Amino acid sequence: MPALMKVCQNCNKYSLELKCPSCGSNTNAAHPPKYSKEDKYAIYRRKELYPQFF
Ligand SMILES: [Zn+2]
Repeated sequence: MPALMKVCQNCNKYSLELKCPSCGSNTNAAHPPKYSKEDKYAIYRRKELYPQFF
């Protein structure tokens, strides 16, 4: 499994480490969570967020 790119919270440099090699800050995953078109639970999440539309 290939390592996912991480991005530094502080200087926005990309790396594969949990800590930024240039400034030592924590890094975040550079990729958004996988999006599924057939998200079975989206309706429940939306109901919770916007109950006035249901
Ligand atoms: Zn950094």
